Amino acid sequence: MNFASIRFKLIFGGILIVLIPMAVSGYVAITDSAKAVTQLSKTNEQFIAEGTAMQVTATLEGEMKFTAAFAARTQVKKATEAVSTKGIVGAAEAVKVIHQDLKKRFELLKTNYSALFITDASGTIYAETAEAGEILKSWDIANHPSFVEAKTTRRSVAGDIVRSKSTNELTIIVCAPIFTDNGAFLGMFGALLKGSVITNLVTARKIGETGYCFMINEAGIIIAHPDEKNVLKLDLKKVEGMEKISSAMMDGRTGAESYVFKGIDKIAGFTPVKGKAWSVAATQDASEFLASVFSLRDRIVLIIFLSVAIIFVIIFLAAASITRPLQKVIDGLQDIASGMGHTALTRRIAIISNDEIGLLSAKFNSLMESINNLSVFKKVIEEDTTLEEVYQRMGQVFTQKLGINGCFIYQVNNAKDEMILTYPSSFDQAEMLCHPDILDNCDLCKAKRTGHIVSSNTFPDICRQFTAHDGRTHYCLPIVVGGSTVAVVQFIFEAAGTQSAVIEKDAKIFKAEAYINESLAVIETKRLMGSLRDSALIDGLTGLYNRRYLQEYAEKIVAGVLRRGKAIGLIMCDLDYFKQVNDIHGHNAGDMVLKETSKIIRQSVREADIVIRFGGEEFLAVLLDISEGESVRVAEKIRHNIEQCVIKLPDGIIQKTISLGTSEFPADTGTLWSCIKYADVALYRAKNEGRNRCVRFTKDMWTDEQV
Ligand code: GH3
Ligand code: MG
Ligand code: MG
Repeated sequence: MNFASIRFKLIFGGILIVLIPMAVSGYVAITDSAKAVTQLSKTNEQFIAEGTAMQVTATLEGEMKFTAAFAARTQVKKATEAVSTKGIVGAAEAVKVIHQDLKKRFELLKTNYSALFITDASGTIYAETAEAGEILKSWDIANHPSFVEAKTTRRSVAGDIVRSKSTNELTIIVCAPIFTDNGAFLGMFGALLKGSVITNLVTARKIGETGYCFMINEAGIIIAHPDEKNVLKLDLKKVEGMEKISSAMMDGRTGAESYVFKGIDKIAGFTPVKGKAWSVAATQDASEFLASVFSLRDRIVLIIFLSVAIIFVIIFLAAASITRPLQKVIDGLQDIASGMGHTALTRRIAIISNDEIGLLSAKFNSLMESINNLSVFKKVIEEDTTLEEVYQRMGQVFTQKLGINGCFIYQVNNAKDEMILTYPSSFDQAEMLCHPDILDNCDLCKAKRTGHIVSSNTFPDICRQFTAHDGRTHYCLPIVVGGSTVAVVQFIFEAAGTQSAVIEKDAKIFKAEAYINESLAVIETKRLMGSLRDSALIDGLTGLYNRRYLQEYAEKIVAGVLRRGKAIGLIMCDLDYFKQVNDIHGHNAGDMVLKETSKIIRQSVREADIVIRFGGEEFLAVLLDISEGESVRVAEKIRHNIEQCVIKLPDGIIQKTISLGTSEFPADTGTLWSCIKYADVALYRAKNEGRNRCVRFTKDMWTDEQV
């Protein structure tokens, strides 16, 4: 696991977001409910202790009432009175009767009592009955604290819980004084109450699974406890952890405390026993009454655990949906960086989501597409044969791929200080938005002259040659190779209104510049090759284009003219009796005549028109964008100019005439080459009709034989 990864951060962050509030609220819920439950159980323990203490009090009082009632019986009084006046032996009869009565009573009461007895005023037992093993005779009753107390307080008294020396059972002595009717003390009725009668009240109390009651006396000694061996043995004051509770109990306080006994959390409620210096406590393990809290805690922990697990799975999947496409982007970039070449450029990322990652992938793909396009573009232009083709392809990319509507590419002819419109094509000059003078003097073009970008965005009138004043802007980029400007790319943009339009325009320019940069090396090579190739298209003698030029460009010439909805005028010219010049003046003179003729024809037509040396002394003038019938007028102009021209030869002067045939495309025929043929047919007619004339082709000249 990479701790710096998005996946880890998302998972860790998500878990924390869930974990922290859940843990905090869980903790608060658990501690609050634990507090409430603890408080409740303290009240409960105290309540149980109070109930038990009340039962102990009530039972003891019941026993004391019983002994008091027995002592007040007439028969008892009479027997005791007899003993006090006659002595035990003297009152033997009365003693015997009361002894019998005592025995009868004991038979009924022996489940609760281990002995009953009657003494005289000095404490001598004269009648008694007891369980086997219980020995009363050796007792010094007269000095027993309960005897003394009963005698002095004149009330019945219950003593402490003690262990009988003779039976080893827990016993409580209960003494009730016997009086004469005048209230004189006669003796004592005593009963040994079984300790279990009282202690069972305490030990029988069960509180849940772990709770129980116990009781201590005023010295802090356990006098009732479910565990018998603690009774009269264990000193609560000395039990570790119970110091506070034992002192509170010994002080006779009522309350409840938490404490730890042998590592176990407990709670005890306590209260004194009324009428005795005893105290009852009810105690229970905290874990028992906190069980509901613990189960709440366990459930909260389980819920947190499940939530964390679910969040982990959800975020893991969500993170994967983010990181997987991101990884693909990274892989793609790595492939390119590691130079996997063209195959890497054609790789595309699968767009699997509609979110930002999908957008990123799409943008990445379009970047790859652009890079690939550039790479493909470079390959294609490398295979193009001419520089014109390269520029044309650039123009097509700018307009079709980059969506720049207005694009002109001017090629610079540094030797002649000229510029040629290469894209859309040299035959589209009419559409130029620059002054045509730049074609003849390329230094008028600021971008060419400076070698810097010239944009009307910087200053609206930055270039005076730009002729569009309708808000359209230009962005002229010189293509500089080997220190000189070889071409100028001009982009025309509609007036950009919005900010986004400006951004879009800049993006297009940025991409276009990338294409231009990619092309520089190819342009350099093609320029060298181009200068070689040009010589093949130009006639060496006259400097005019040759027939090959027409073969190569016919298609483009036609396309441009048709696009503009114009026509082409074709004038086929042939010098009259030229053979004679050679024959009379020699071949060199013939060549001079040809040169002069070509110059005159060139000057007789417009700059944009094309003059071709078609054969030996045959010339073809291709007039672009003419209106109907114009070709005849131009042909006549040529004829006239030739006729007027006096050519100087080394051996004198010469004047020549010329015959011309004209046709017009597409009025005469739909193909340029058949139209040229028609012009030739018209020329033939001009020769036949006597030469030095111009004939316009008509349909009737085209006979079956000529086909
Ligand atoms: P017309 O056209 O009036 O019928 O008569 P023409 O004498 O001009 O006839 P033709 O077409 O038969 O003659 C053409 C001559 O042009 C033949 C050839 O010797 C000459 N010629 C062709 N090319 C050249 C060239 O480059 N230099 C020179 N000096 N002569 C050429
Ligand atoms: Mg000829
Ligand atoms: Mg001729």
